[in-house]
Amino acid sequence: MMDTQITIIGAGVVGLAIAERVTKDFKDVFLIEKYSAFGQETSSRNSEVIHAGIYYPKGSLKSRLCVEGKRLLYDYCTEYDVPFKNCGKLIVATSEDEIQIIEGIQKTAFNNGVEDLVIIEKKQIAELEPSVFALKAIFSPSTGIVDSHSLMKRYETGTINNGGQIVYGSEVTGIRKIENGYEITLLDSDKNMYSFTSQIVINSAGLTSDKVSEMAGLEDDKLKIMFCKGEYFRLNPPKNHLINKLVYPVPIHNLEGIGIHVTIEMSGGVKLGPDVTYLQSNTYDYKVTPSKQEAFFKSVRKFLPFLEYDDLSPEMAGIRPKIQKPGDPVMDFYIKEETERGCPGFINLIGIESPGLTSSLAIANYVRKLISI
Ligand SMILES: Cc1cc2nc3c(=O)[nH]c(=O)nc-3n(C[C@H](O)[C@H](O)[C@H](O)COP(=O)(O)OP(=O)(O)OC[C@H]3O[C@@H](n4cnc5c(N)ncnc54)[C@H](O)[C@@H]3O)c2cc1C
Repeated sequence: MMDTQITIIGAGVVGLAIAERVTKDFKDVFLIEKYSAFGQETSSRNSEVIHAGIYYPKGSLKSRLCVEGKRLLYDYCTEYDVPFKNCGKLIVATSEDEIQIIEGIQKTAFNNGVEDLVIIEKKQIAELEPSVFALKAIFSPSTGIVDSHSLMKRYETGTINNGGQIVYGSEVTGIRKIENGYEITLLDSDKNMYSFTSQIVINSAGLTSDKVSEMAGLEDDKLKIMFCKGEYFRLNPPKNHLINKLVYPVPIHNLEGIGIHVTIEMSGGVKLGPDVTYLQSNTYDYKVTPSKQEAFFKSVRKFLPFLEYDDLSPEMAGIRPKIQKPGDPVMDFYIKEETERGCPGFINLIGIESPGLTSSLAIANYVRKLISI
């Protein structure tokens, strides 16, 4: 007999969404989190954008789960009163070269099932965003923003209401394969060690999901996470009132990031970012580098002509759990049940960078289908 049926490691937005989903079908579910509350890492340090699914390679999990996740998320937020805004987004071309690129983006998106993008001209751009400069733009009506803290709170409430148990302040430090399941060792906040057994283990540990996988003996160089930092600057009031929608430049070719963009917040604030910096070592470095203000200013001023240098101030940073090495082609989410590698019932989620927040409910459904007990 196992102590529990299912153990989920990590209470970020993805682990919480999975927990709410699986507790609908299973009685004995533990969600284990090393901090004393949910969402203390990447899930609280991002742009909070509900992505439309525009850029990702056709057929990839990123593409499919984003498009499906977006629809599910809008419905979920409406049903449970989670604050969101379907504000729309512009991808702006500021040169002739970029016009060709946005036409290509529209085609990719269409093939991915995002059929509502329209290319708009200067006059329509001026109607939608009078303060933005662009020669042409893509308008994405289904892009939006969500209050990620409220979303996680709601997933947590759903999990508890369904009978799941959330254990905060306990870090998973060991996983041992046993007959029909796994023995999991935890270190709690008083430095006490204890262990329990679980038939299924779901690794949703974000930045350290590669390490958690290795605990179970699943080592793979291709799945080593590199911390990739993204910094933000704030657009100081009152100029934040000049922006109503998300405004993006054309993306970097291999999607290491999607360019320093302008993100509006539910509170009415506006931030610029994130940039892309692979860290030398995997350290939790959330400092914002004040000397980057010049680069942010220059890259965004192309399409925000009203911007002056002093309109910006350092804001915050987040870290992407990248399995894509610098300069490499875009990598997909890794979401697998590991029977083939000798670990039946062990489900890995590695490299869940953007659009992980948008995709959270679709990821949860996908993971549910990987569970066979
Ligand atoms: C700069 C930036 C901008 C982004 N913008 C967007 C966006 O606009 N839209 C979008 O859709 N996505 C965006 N993303 C991606 C999105 O934030 C992530 O995909 C999502 O937050 C990942 O959630 P998670 O639950 O997988 O990971 P996390 O939030 O990292 O949660 C993992 C949890 O596991 C816990 N944990 C780790 N190891 C252990 C252990 N051994 N024992 C117990 N607990 C453990 C951690 O404490 C953490 O709470 C962005 C990401 C970044 C970095």
